Amino acid sequence: MRAEGIETVRRILCVFPRYTSSFGTFEYSYPLTDGVQAFMPPQGILLIAAYLPENWPVRFVDENIRPASTEDFEWAEAVFVSGMHIQRQQMNDICRRAHAFDLAVAIGGPSVSACPDYYPSFDYLHVGELGDATDELLARLARDPSRPEQQVVLKTADRLDMTRFPIPAYELAEVKRYFLGSIQYSSGCPYQCEFCDIPGLYGRNPRLKSPQQITAELDKLLECGVTGSVYFVDDNFIGNRKAAVDLLPHLIEWQKRTGYVIRLACEATLNIAKRPEILAKMREAFFVTIFCGIETPDPDALKAMQKDHNMMVPILEGVHTINSYGMEVVSGIIMGLDTDKPETAEALLAFVDESRIPLLTINLLQALPKTPLWDRLERENRLNHDETRDSNVDFLLPYDEVVSAWRKCMEVAYQPEKLYARYQYQVDYTYANRLKVPVTAEQKSWANIKRGLIMLGNIFWKVGVLGDYRKVFWKFALSRLRHGDIEGLISSALIAHHLIMFARAASVGQQNASNYSLRLREASVPAE
Ligand code: SF4
Repeated sequence: MRAEGIETVRRILCVFPRYTSSFGTFEYSYPLTDGVQAFMPPQGILLIAAYLPENWPVRFVDENIRPASTEDFEWAEAVFVSGMHIQRQQMNDICRRAHAFDLAVAIGGPSVSACPDYYPSFDYLHVGELGDATDELLARLARDPSRPEQQVVLKTADRLDMTRFPIPAYELAEVKRYFLGSIQYSSGCPYQCEFCDIPGLYGRNPRLKSPQQITAELDKLLECGVTGSVYFVDDNFIGNRKAAVDLLPHLIEWQKRTGYVIRLACEATLNIAKRPEILAKMREAFFVTIFCGIETPDPDALKAMQKDHNMMVPILEGVHTINSYGMEVVSGIIMGLDTDKPETAEALLAFVDESRIPLLTINLLQALPKTPLWDRLERENRLNHDETRDSNVDFLLPYDEVVSAWRKCMEVAYQPEKLYARYQYQVDYTYANRLKVPVTAEQKSWANIKRGLIMLGNIFWKVGVLGDYRKVFWKFALSRLRHGDIEGLISSALIAHHLIMFARAASVGQQNASNYSLRLREASVPAE
């Protein structure tokens, strides 16, 4: 549904801020693609854009693709911004630029919802999810679009039921410019891992869209030109197991109807390995990747962070079970935990070798507001607000020791030989178990072949000829070419290149040790 009952017309400019360079956004892969410039279409701000009254003209600018221009700001009557903590500096910069045009600026999304204090310059703070605060914001702008004298804070008390959410305005985004498509089925998670802000922000009882909404969104993503993979951004795809079971037959039908042109990916807790009936359906729906927050292979650490559900099956067994359904596991790992010991880095590297997981996001522990971890560290006087550090946690081990252990893990885990060996394992023992999907007319189309050729050309030239790890690359590439697996070659080489390049920068201190780090290395987009 859209906001209703508003006659006055307002022109709204929605701006999504740039990301600070991070491990999880794959920017080193972009130059190998056919023109990708950004990670995923942002769900939140495209949802708000779709919710605006039908007669309100709206523009969307993702500053990861291009900066909002003078003409955009001159066109607009008000500006909406949304983002995560890591984009805080960039969001404040957008506000400053909009104010230069005397425009009212509203901010919503996860960062402001957790920390309204981070955004003192904005005119409107939209705290919480889509709901009565959104209606109030639109009503106020309809009455008067000028900047209010004082900051106005609007908090959602009554959330809009997710079954009434409109389809995000994907048509405003240049979907082809994104590395992945994105979609959201549920919000919230029943668990309470100590470091995680999801239950605090979105609740423990997951709210849901209907399966019909999801297939309609997938249709729209296809219409808008999505190719490759679509990622379910839900914090835990099996947060409500019954809902996942209800959705999967619809996804299977959708894949059959549209010819399996899209691969699916999601985030889920590792205990999904205990649900063979769900894994089997996911395989049929052509899920190829699951991000699992394994966090640490140390059972004592899992217990301490209240992530016991990761121990419902032995971790390596869980990973191999998921692999046996054709799904690659991507793993979140945290270093700097209170249970870490001097030998933690060695144990972690042994786990990387044994699990054969190619992609592990290894981060330093960061305390997020609205988490039990934050509250505990505050009580223990262990929150450190020095923004030059890679973490706001005073670790029990010396800070320098923890950071150098992180750098060592990045350096060793992503040595090209080791990484490509893990990919070769995935080819042999995971990808081999995937659903054999029919070759469709769309896959044989000239547009698709051209896209593949461009990416192959980029990979062969930039990695196979100019790259300093070309020998390792060619060993893997020639074996893939012999098997006619061009798609497997492209997807592995794209990701591997990012991991290798990012890890090299990280191991010499040129990248943040946490996706949430307050240390913002990248200058914000300059004003035009
Ligand atoms: S299972 Fe995942 S989403 Fe849920 S509380 Fe733990 S870390 Fe957060």
